[in-house]
Amino acid sequence: MDRTRRDFMKRLLLGSASLLLPPGRSHGATRVEKWIPAYEKLEMEGKFAPRVKQAYALFENCQLCPRRCGVNRRKDEKGFCQAPLKPVVYGAQPHFGEEMPLVGSQGSGTIFFSNCNLRCIFCQNWPISHEGKGKETSDEDVADRMIHLQKIGCHNINLVTPTHVMPNIVSATRIALRKGLHIPLVYNTSGYERVEILKILDGVVDLYLPDMKYMDADKAAKYSAGASDYPEVTKKAILEMQRQVGELKLDAQGVALRGLMIRHLVMPRRVAGTEKFVAWVAASLPKSTYVNIMAQYRVEYKAYDYPEISRGITAQEFLEAMDWAEKSGLTNLDPQSVGLRNFYQQRRSG
Ligand code: SF4
Repeated sequence: MDRTRRDFMKRLLLGSASLLLPPGRSHGATRVEKWIPAYEKLEMEGKFAPRVKQAYALFENCQLCPRRCGVNRRKDEKGFCQAPLKPVVYGAQPHFGEEMPLVGSQGSGTIFFSNCNLRCIFCQNWPISHEGKGKETSDEDVADRMIHLQKIGCHNINLVTPTHVMPNIVSATRIALRKGLHIPLVYNTSGYERVEILKILDGVVDLYLPDMKYMDADKAAKYSAGASDYPEVTKKAILEMQRQVGELKLDAQGVALRGLMIRHLVMPRRVAGTEKFVAWVAASLPKSTYVNIMAQYRVEYKAYDYPEISRGITAQEFLEAMDWAEKSGLTNLDPQSVGLRNFYQQRRSG
């Protein structure tokens, strides 16, 4: 056993004792008795370095996402996402607007990657995702940002729009691990992922935070640059994420350690297919899966050109979405969305 692996074993044994937590439940999720990051276990098993190599090889004939462009990003060829070989980062900071189990008391350590493989016409981050605003950097720099976010107290590393830079992320995580990274990795994705690619992340990622944007192929094609396969591809991706990390697990303070958290943005005029979405989750995943029914749709970027989505959602549209979610039997809805539902209900009856 080399020195690094011996150090990890020592830390694991010492850490296990201090991480013993009482069993219980919070936000409807199971608490765990001891915890180390998935990627740390992978390193101890000697499997992390080959995983970095396997991920990086994908750049030569890029099929990282369902667009499957086949470009050689090592030779500076660019595909649909327009991403270069090196990661482009817009910013890295604690974020307090994410779900409560990710934010905790100290914030979620977000790293915003520029460019995107889905490119929705209503994207709220369009200068970053569509126009690629940000700074080209290196895996080492991403690793340093991870360490900085951990040092200032963030509870996790929240990788926003990670799909097209997955190899850089895997590499950066290993570099950061060797510098002492010890907090969960959150894969904050549009959900437009290939199962074969997600398998490379098995044992690297602790928390998956996928969107499920649409349930209808025509809507996906219309609003997300022809991605008519989005509903079917994303359903399979979410099932794979569930297989890898299971249901949400929290520490004694209610902060997320591992598991699946699904986001669904309610859109005007039932465009997002919310009724079908909650029915699918209830039928395909545990009913206690953490689901965030989000009310914050706003008209952005090119959405002004599509009359059916050129307004925010109404209180009634949000209430019917929450009603469908509850009637489908889902038991672990995001507490903030439940609070908003209660507020609208009280206002309506008052
Ligand atoms: S990650 Fe980018 S280049 Fe690679 S397949 Fe997807 S869109 Fe194409």
